[in-house]
Amino acid sequence: MQVNQPSSYKNRTSIAVLGATGSIGSATLDVIRHLGSPWRAAALTAHSQIASLMQSARQMQPDLVAITDDCLVEGVDCSGLTDEVRLLRGAEGLVQIAQDPRIGTVVAAVVGSAGLPSTLAAAKAGKRLALANKEALVVAGELVMAAVRQHGGELIPVDSEHSAIFQALRAGSDKQVARIVLTASGGPFRNATQAEMNAATVQDALAHPTWQMGRKITIDSATMMNKALEIIEARWLFGIPSDKIQVVIHPQSIVHSMVEFTDGSVVAQLSPPDMRLPIQYALTYPDRLASPCPKMNFAQPWNLEFLPADPQRFPALTLGWEVANRGGSTGAVLNAANEAAVGLFLAGKIKFPAIVAGCRRILEEHNYSPSPELEELMRLDQWAREEIHKWAAAC
Ligand code: NAD
Ligand code: MG
Repeated sequence: MQVNQPSSYKNRTSIAVLGATGSIGSATLDVIRHLGSPWRAAALTAHSQIASLMQSARQMQPDLVAITDDCLVEGVDCSGLTDEVRLLRGAEGLVQIAQDPRIGTVVAAVVGSAGLPSTLAAAKAGKRLALANKEALVVAGELVMAAVRQHGGELIPVDSEHSAIFQALRAGSDKQVARIVLTASGGPFRNATQAEMNAATVQDALAHPTWQMGRKITIDSATMMNKALEIIEARWLFGIPSDKIQVVIHPQSIVHSMVEFTDGSVVAQLSPPDMRLPIQYALTYPDRLASPCPKMNFAQPWNLEFLPADPQRFPALTLGWEVANRGGSTGAVLNAANEAAVGLFLAGKIKFPAIVAGCRRILEEHNYSPSPELEELMRLDQWAREEIHKWAAAC
């Protein structure tokens, strides 16, 4: 498993929350409030919802605040902030924060490949990376993992499935791992017919049964592209080949994922669904501190179901295994095509099944490159977005 030893960073409790106004970002702020001193939000960033960002800044008095959407910087209400708080602007602000020597831990909670430059910068600066931004690993897993290794940083997953696997892997050695099993709620269309999925509205797709999340990941859960991205994420995080990564439907979202060892023992991590738990674990690892999250109540009956995942009904899964297997440029292309297709679906421009169909098409059309550098990945990201728009317009 490719995770360095716990850092001796003295300022590990000094935390940058990149994407502080989002679902993961605001859950992280809640965790930091509950942990109390010496844990501190030392930097906050957002792309939109600037009023909410500034309200958190007033409460937490971080050293640094960044607004990444340049257009929103003018006229920002900085009242209530001390003179020590510095305001940064533009995408470069994220990278500056990720590298700032005052920061020990970077919570990467930006959505999409927009989070890649700051994730990479944090890895190169040898920080502890609490990674929610799975797209960064999907696009550039090889580069991010190499940067973590070379610069002595740590990467602790925030994604609940990968946090569960990270914890379960501690029950054996790398050589003893037979396979990992990612659980998936199945999303709102778990039992839907093909006709129902063809006719799905944005509202139907946003109605997730167990998790409250940002809009992009909620649509990804409905197509099961989220699980595809998680297969790829697991491949890079844990260095496990795609044929040893299985997906199982578990509608209750209590078992967050499992590791099967060579002797047949399966080790799982369980808790009621609440992202504050994996976020806190990523901050405090290897310690475990008291948390505000709900606990399992075994005084009540529990019904935990496990059902096989069906790639025929959810073809995104097949894309996940293919990309995890091929690596190279495929992750950048799949991710960008998906981000653009989700945007088109949310804007009412394409139908629900076209999200994954479009991704398959663009992936097949692209010129495969086995070990692209960052510039090429960024170019392919742009290319895939343009292609999916052309494809959608022609449909
Ligand atoms: P969200 O949409 O709720 O929040 C996204 C945050 O990123 C916001 O603060 C927004 O201002 C910022 N942002 C958006 N576009 C940006 C850009 N171009 N540049 C800089 N910042 C930008 O998303 P979320 O649900 O919190 O998800 C964040 C990440 O965490 C995603 O990668 C997602 O896959 C992952 N994740 C989320 C959950 C969850 O429960 N929400 C669980 C596991 C993993
Ligand atoms: Mg997840």
